[in-house]
Amino acid sequence: MARFAKFCKDMGFIYQSSEIYGGINGFWDYGPLGVELKRNIKEAWWHDMVRNPPLGPNGQEIHMVGLDCSIIMNPKVWVASGHVGGFSDPMVDCKTCKGRFRADQIAAAQCPLKPSKAPGQFEECQLTEPRAFNLMFQTYVGAVQSEDNIAYLRPETAQGIFANYRNVLDSSRLKLPFGIAQVGKAFRNEINPRNFTFRSREFEQMEIEFFCHPAESMMWYQYWRDVRKKWYSSLGIQSDNLRPREQGKDELAHYSIGTTDIEYMFPFSDEPQELEGVAHRGDFDLKAHARHSGMNEKFMYFDEERWNADAGTRATNSFKEWLKTNPPTAEVEKYQFFPHVIEPSAGADRFTLAVLCEAYTVEEVPDAKGKPEERVVMKFHPRLAPIKAAVFPLVNKDGMPEKALELYRQLKPHFNVFFDDKGAIGRRYRRQDEAGTPFCITIDGDTLKDGTVTIRDRDTLKQERVPMTEVQAVIAKALTPGC
Ligand code: ATP
Repeated sequence: MARFAKFCKDMGFIYQSSEIYGGINGFWDYGPLGVELKRNIKEAWWHDMVRNPPLGPNGQEIHMVGLDCSIIMNPKVWVASGHVGGFSDPMVDCKTCKGRFRADQIAAAQCPLKPSKAPGQFEECQLTEPRAFNLMFQTYVGAVQSEDNIAYLRPETAQGIFANYRNVLDSSRLKLPFGIAQVGKAFRNEINPRNFTFRSREFEQMEIEFFCHPAESMMWYQYWRDVRKKWYSSLGIQSDNLRPREQGKDELAHYSIGTTDIEYMFPFSDEPQELEGVAHRGDFDLKAHARHSGMNEKFMYFDEERWNADAGTRATNSFKEWLKTNPPTAEVEKYQFFPHVIEPSAGADRFTLAVLCEAYTVEEVPDAKGKPEERVVMKFHPRLAPIKAAVFPLVNKDGMPEKALELYRQLKPHFNVFFDDKGAIGRRYRRQDEAGTPFCITIDGDTLKDGTVTIRDRDTLKQERVPMTEVQAVIAKALTPGC
């Protein structure tokens, strides 16, 4: 992982945050290539899940909308969600080395004084009993730093969605089932940030809360598990490296009816690790906010269509009036109920790391003279590649640079393209291989005669001659979502 992190730094994918001051554990910066990669991931997610989600199990349209909530919210949100009371990992401290370790991961941890042993195995270790440790970052809002002004940096984006559930329903006139999506930063004061960006203290999530009728919730749980797994495959993650794992009863959060972790075989571990959790959360969140805000009605869903369809010989058309006659509970719940929620919750940084690991390839290819040489190539899916195409003049004379610039300027408004006229052409190709650029387009002597260029495919190394006027269409085709 250290070698890989160095490669990521050298190429401008990921840097340690505030490195000039020795860094800060659990925080990372994305460089010029990394920021494009992560943006492409978030945009692919938004495009495929929010704007264009796959049809439902019965071929129905899926209705999705987005939100962008504040990072700091009223702290009561975190009381209602259970994070103030319970968002903690049991921790064990060592009085000798002052290290702090997650109690459930102690066997896999290293003793800082004796790295070949786990904490507790070295005779000098003095471990405490496991204690709760809240993972939320705390701050104060306003000038006064008092108990009354405590606020938290959100540890997940989901709660902003629940808190706005009624606003979204009222302003967008959605009907069940529907989803609300959000991409944004989350903060957790992780005890043991590790494995590069895998476990960070500041990270980004891509979350969906999908609201549905309780009777249909298992169908939607299945739907989202399938959709989310396929999404990773559609972006080039090999199925051998992906594992959907249904959590055992003992792992499930107390409110969860079922959770499937979609895991990826990261090179730093012998076991696949979580990329995303798809959780069936039942009606836990909406009920919790209804209870804590005292606004029960706001969090319940009234199925107007069903109410109207069942009108029959009912004396009143007002649901409120009808309730006064105290019909049996089951009858009321036909029309008014707390929706159930399916939550596919993915980490943008974890997936970026998985994409980097998956793409990183070292292979032998023949050099210009046919001799085998090693090349490092990032085999990104074209949709995710930071740079889509590089444009080169073969040599800097005979009108080639001008023609290359013309093509570069033609492509630039449509894709992130790169112009390079420096150094030997072979070296320019290698540099783009390391950046993961799917296409290199070279302007040569023939271009000036017949208007054709060569397009070199990053993975097959094949070069094809195509009319310069078709280059844009070739790139656009490779970027068309297949999801
Ligand atoms: P883990 O078990 O790895 O701590 P979690 O189950 O606490 O993760 P969730 O609360 O379900 O994670 O968060 C949803 C997603 O957010 C995770 O699947 C992961 O992709 C991402 N995520 C959570 N914690 C971190 C972190 N510390 N660093 C980077 N990404 C994270």
